[in-house]
Amino acid sequence: MSLTEIKSRIASAEVAADRVPGSVQLIAVSKVQPNERVEAVLQEGHRVFGENRVQEAAGKWPDFRSRYDGIELHLIGPLQTNKARQAMELVDSIHSVDRLKLANTLARLAQELGRCPQIFLQVNTGEEEQKAGVLPSEADAFVAECRSLDLPVQGLMCIPPVDEEPSLHFALLAKIAARNGLSGLSMGMSSDFEQAIALGATHVRVGSAIFGTRSGSA
Ligand SMILES: *Cc1c(COP(=O)(O)O)cnc(C)c1O
Repeated sequence: MSLTEIKSRIASAEVAADRVPGSVQLIAVSKVQPNERVEAVLQEGHRVFGENRVQEAAGKWPDFRSRYDGIELHLIGPLQTNKARQAMELVDSIHSVDRLKLANTLARLAQELGRCPQIFLQVNTGEEEQKAGVLPSEADAFVAECRSLDLPVQGLMCIPPVDEEPSLHFALLAKIAARNGLSGLSMGMSSDFEQAIALGATHVRVGSAIFGTRSGSA
């Protein structure tokens, strides 16, 4: 599928859901993709990208940034506290803030650096053992804690369990965000971004549907 096709599907989903046209941001998830494919998408004019790992992002984006204006980079994968500084210097948005220790580190670094990426808090809506994120029952308290640290909390993020109906998880995330007065909803991937838009997604994270399947893991 092409970038143009994904964009037009997003536009249709916005219309179908009575959403403001252009209100959903497409994050093109470029993790593990060959640089030529990423560059082709840059040449088509797209500027908003997502990466899973700080190391990989640091290896590829400074060069692209030196050659293309207006790039916006989102970190969507797990973040270790010892990589937090590098992440904060590199990305515009972090979607995977999932524990107080990390929030504390980001807050301290924000003071020191005088700036902070936009923050999304990850919620483990499926309560899966192996998945990152705070439990739904802990989410309100975590939002309050992050706000009291002066972190710029823009919204919530989730990755639904693979074998469950994603809409239930999107609806749950939207409900938690609404009761906490948060407008950002990072939800929806290649296979379910239209459902996510129907339930209020403001940021969809689409990888393989734009770039093709990834060889290798992550
Ligand atoms: C890889 C990844 C995506 C994109 O997945 P696709 O199915 O390729 O669209 C979205 N979000 C996260 C957190 C990811 O790790």
